[in-house]
Amino acid sequence: MIYYKIANHLLPQEFINMRYKLLILFLVLNYHFGQCQIFDKETIKNSGDNDKRINLVILSDGYQTSELNDFKTDAISFVNDMFNQSPFSEYTNYFNVHIIKVPSNESGADHPATATDVTEPYNIPVMSVDTYFNATFDAFGYHRALYYGIDYPDSASAESKINSVLADNFPTYDQVLILVNSSEYGGTGGEFPISSTHTAANQIAIHELGHSMFNLKDEYLVPDVFYGEAINMTQETNSSLIKWKNWINENGVYIYPYGTSGIPATWYRPHQNCKMRVLSAPFCPVCKEGIVEKIHSLISPIDSYLPVSNSINTSTYPIDFQLNLIKPIPNTLESTWTLNASNFANDVDDVSIIETDLNVGSNNLTVVLNDTTTLLKVDNHETFHVYSVSWTITKSALGIDDITSEENNFNISLFPNPTNSILNLKVKSKNTVNLKVDIISLDGKKIKSTKISNYENNEVDISHLSQGLYLANSYSNHILITSKRFVKN
Ligand SMILES: [Zn+2]
Repeated sequence: MIYYKIANHLLPQEFINMRYKLLILFLVLNYHFGQCQIFDKETIKNSGDNDKRINLVILSDGYQTSELNDFKTDAISFVNDMFNQSPFSEYTNYFNVHIIKVPSNESGADHPATATDVTEPYNIPVMSVDTYFNATFDAFGYHRALYYGIDYPDSASAESKINSVLADNFPTYDQVLILVNSSEYGGTGGEFPISSTHTAANQIAIHELGHSMFNLKDEYLVPDVFYGEAINMTQETNSSLIKWKNWINENGVYIYPYGTSGIPATWYRPHQNCKMRVLSAPFCPVCKEGIVEKIHSLISPIDSYLPVSNSINTSTYPIDFQLNLIKPIPNTLESTWTLNASNFANDVDDVSIIETDLNVGSNNLTVVLNDTTTLLKVDNHETFHVYSVSWTITKSALGIDDITSEENNFNISLFPNPTNSILNLKVKSKNTVNLKVDIISLDGKKIKSTKISNYENNEVDISHLSQGLYLANSYSNHILITSKRFVKN
């Protein structure tokens, strides 16, 4: 869902629908007439391979060719602001940032002085400049609403320009931001967030990325049509059921109504001072958790590993097995190495195996990675992410016959939690998996054992269990992948 937030205001739904109709019409009419245009491109934040990172692409508007170095400086300043704040500071290694230097014929942005929320001409003189995406202040009647191509010919043509610049120059982008060469405070959200170069405008852009990249909702009073269940918005008022139940009473998290009457009074936010409400504030713990979860769902912390299948055929011991990890700062990744179902090593990036460690025949070495960051409260979290690499090492009397490897990631869901009757178990994985799940009581007794396969939902009836805390241990090929607590009530 896309939010057209204009500074602290939102566009009416009908207007959005109309814009989409125009866009579709325009795309149909112009589909075959576009010409490929390649612009100068530069990576200003390089954490590693693009296909193993989240790629943020920044486009310029209102910078003439001679000013494109200023654009780079401004983009770097934005990136510094973004990655200096949590949780981007902890997960900075998961992002690459690229700039596409789109030159404009003239500098700045339009200012038609048509805003109705201020006395115009406000702050800056009336001006009309020829820029590539036609950015303008005063969009939708708000002075600080900086938007693309609203005045002429229409925003749909600017949107199709943005889409073609991306398609021709960086089609595999994850998120886009447009930086406009104006020091006047302004910006807007939506699929393509825009920001001016005003220092505080960086915070607008970061807030807007909260919407467009991480599905967060505003935590201030919004028009009725914009309320809906989200990471940081709910109608649940029971503190033991609410989605942010793990954070209640920590760092200011509670259940705050959006308003005192009407629809807003029936919706709740987790915090009074979150960046999704107050631009100068940090993200609240609930929003931080949502951002980290999204990062985990997009990017595996395993950058690469060695050996890959059949890359060695050796009888020389020791054999080294090695992970290259994308580490949070500080490093909160926990690794558990298991050889033939016995714990082999913990919290190391590489291990060496000697001949006597191996049986004749097939051996299995698996490393499982969990992120133990305190930004997540995974224990009662519905879905969590676990990553693994498994090597099958075949040993014969002559030495090592071969080594094959397989990387996997698991999204394991266990819900609802707490529950008094049915516990749903679900696993999603990029490879075929069959997990065995053991339900264990706190005194260590195995109560129940069940199996789950990829994308299947397994309903486990636990109504006969006595109330209390239990563990659900998930095993893949006898290797413990994860251990998760749940409550029977
Ligand atoms: Zn928040």
